[in-house]
Amino acid sequence: MLKNCLSKPYHTKLWRAIYEFNLIEPGDAILIGLSGGKDSMFLVYALSLLRSYSSIPFTVEAVTVDIGFPGPFDIDKLKAACDAMGVPHHLVSTKIAQVIEERRDKANPCAVCSYFRRAAMNRFASENGFSKVALAHHEDDAMETFLMSILYSGKLCTLPWKTYLTRTGITVIRPMMYLSEKDVIKAVKRAGIEAIPTCCPYSGQTTRARVKRLLLELTRENKMVRANLMASMRDGDDVELWPSIGRHNRQDLC
Ligand code: SF4
Repeated sequence: MLKNCLSKPYHTKLWRAIYEFNLIEPGDAILIGLSGGKDSMFLVYALSLLRSYSSIPFTVEAVTVDIGFPGPFDIDKLKAACDAMGVPHHLVSTKIAQVIEERRDKANPCAVCSYFRRAAMNRFASENGFSKVALAHHEDDAMETFLMSILYSGKLCTLPWKTYLTRTGITVIRPMMYLSEKDVIKAVKRAGIEAIPTCCPYSGQTTRARVKRLLLELTRENKMVRANLMASMRDGDDVELWPSIGRHNRQDLC
């Protein structure tokens, strides 16, 4: 069992999210989506620690969806890391890489990958008696998604804290979104957790990676950029948007 290297602010931010959005309830069986990257490794570590002293009884297991990319992926190391944290690990094999290849001319590889990966994970959760699927998105992911959705989809939306999926009966939760990517990097280093290198050929060349670099550049120029973006993701009285086109008389448009 790994020792607790998480300082108080981490516990506070995780519990704040859990209580504020009612993310974990008594008796929950939580399945964590574990890719092997630092974020999902951190989530397994954090939820295994929280579970050990929580007054809310819940269980934690992890699942890795093998996308099927050629290249080495050290699944044994991943299983060993889960064992060390006392978290049972499952592997789901898929042919998502083949689907990405077949649709490469028509669709964004990451969109295809995320869609099928989540579907595989949710199906596994629903068929194996889990009530919740936990995803390892942090504050930076939420901000990047917010910007990407405005810039590339014309929509004002970000990652939700909690979503109930009516088709599977599973609730998807994101307990890490009060932690920044920097927080996660520091914590995994301190705890001695090693991420498993990805064999995805698209890694680092995605639209998200470009938006991440843009955000980093803007933050270097102005320290308030992150706080402002976080504030703008909240619903509230400050929201001032144009009315939707449907609500306008077409003659008003010029
Ligand atoms: S970077 Fe690779 S693993 Fe990640 S979503 Fe895109 S295709 Fe999938």
